Amino acid sequence: MAEPLSPLARRVRQAGIVGAGGGGFPAYVKASSKAEIAIVNGAECEPLLQKDQEILEHFTSDVAAGLKLLMRATGASKGVIAIKAKHKELVEKVEAEVKGEKGLSVRRLADVYPAGDEFCLVYEIAGRLIPPGGIPIQVGVVVNNVETLYNLSRAEKGPVIDTFLTVTGAVKKPCTLKLPIGTSFAEAVSLAGGAAVKDYAALDGGAMMGRVAMDFTQPLTKTSSGLIVLPRSHALIQRKGALRGADERIGKSACDQCSLCTELCPRYLLGYAIQPHKVMRSLLFSPQDRKTWNQWSLLCCECQLCALYSCPENLAPGKVCAAAKADLAKEDISWKSSFLNAGQAPKAHPIRPFRLVPVKQLIHRLGLADYQTEAPLVREDYAPESVRILLKQHAGVPAKPVVKAGQKVERGELIGDVPEDQLGVPVHASISGTVSVVGDYIEIRR
Ligand code: SF4
Ligand code: SF4
Repeated sequence: MAEPLSPLARRVRQAGIVGAGGGGFPAYVKASSKAEIAIVNGAECEPLLQKDQEILEHFTSDVAAGLKLLMRATGASKGVIAIKAKHKELVEKVEAEVKGEKGLSVRRLADVYPAGDEFCLVYEIAGRLIPPGGIPIQVGVVVNNVETLYNLSRAEKGPVIDTFLTVTGAVKKPCTLKLPIGTSFAEAVSLAGGAAVKDYAALDGGAMMGRVAMDFTQPLTKTSSGLIVLPRSHALIQRKGALRGADERIGKSACDQCSLCTELCPRYLLGYAIQPHKVMRSLLFSPQDRKTWNQWSLLCCECQLCALYSCPENLAPGKVCAAAKADLAKEDISWKSSFLNAGQAPKAHPIRPFRLVPVKQLIHRLGLADYQTEAPLVREDYAPESVRILLKQHAGVPAKPVVKAGQKVERGELIGDVPEDQLGVPVHASISGTVSVVGDYIEIRR
């Protein structure tokens, strides 16, 4: 039988807090673990996104309070707030906030991509390598995103009903917004002054790991972090939006096996058994052969550095690796069952410090240099006329609706829940109004 949750973990679950950094993993699980070091991941290495910086700037004490709560819950004696050294004033502000606090410190990170990848971050800060296919807690570390800790500090006051995101790129007023969950992409773009070009798309979640969004009626979720609006003709939109068949056809004929994708892969440089050039090679092989060679993708974190920076042919090894992992999962092949899993501990490559990729260089390579600008937090509250709140915006099982169409709800009220014995978190109304649709999402109208 599962252990009962601690009072704090229960509160975190009831507040519907998830990892706001993208994965949407329920935060109560981390709050229930035992750790030595708690890290606040403020690396924010996705080019142009600034919401973590803005939260740290405007809600410094909340983030520090969230970290202290997490340290108490996990028993961690050290709490480290990791921020890029280039944000000099912000670093100083956060240092002043934690000065004199036992066990708390700020760590300055280099401006490289992907500094925020948990495996890289834990290695940089704790000098520990997470076991292949594992998670930070296995080496005594718990990592949380800035916004997650902000939400944690407020769990007592109420549930997660707003989300922070940066709206930038080809918009008239790039900014960071705090919006009710379920607000549409279209409204977020319009609050950023609207698109500055006629025919546009967006990268939802960032230029590197985000996905292409063409449908702007989509709602924001607890894990939304940013929309980068770009002309549809921009190379990034074209490349990220290319279909699997096209990526594989071109990869098969154009990959010259130079192996640069592997040589610069951040996970390979940490000593993990990942070699994207071998996965590319497998495009030429029979399905049986592919099953073997594709296992060189199993430890890929899908950072897309190989595709969008390293490959001189502009091929898509990162996407090919992601597709290979999905194919292997269908065949029940995981790292645990892989022939590559020989039980060997990883060892960082001695060349690693000389192969870190500066974000500045990456931005130029991505064709985003013209869009580099400040995106300050807009402090006014925005009240949309309607919201669509997804019942599944977290890892685990979807929430089950606990409201009916026609029912009146208040902002903050429970509208979907997950049984205690299942992984997942509840969802709450982000505006007051009347429930108009109950399906995979709950729509509320004022
Ligand atoms: S970098 Fe590009 S061309 Fe070179 S091996 Fe990787 S996918 Fe092939
Ligand atoms: S996306 Fe490419 S660079 Fe990133 S971890 Fe996977 S193989 Fe390595």
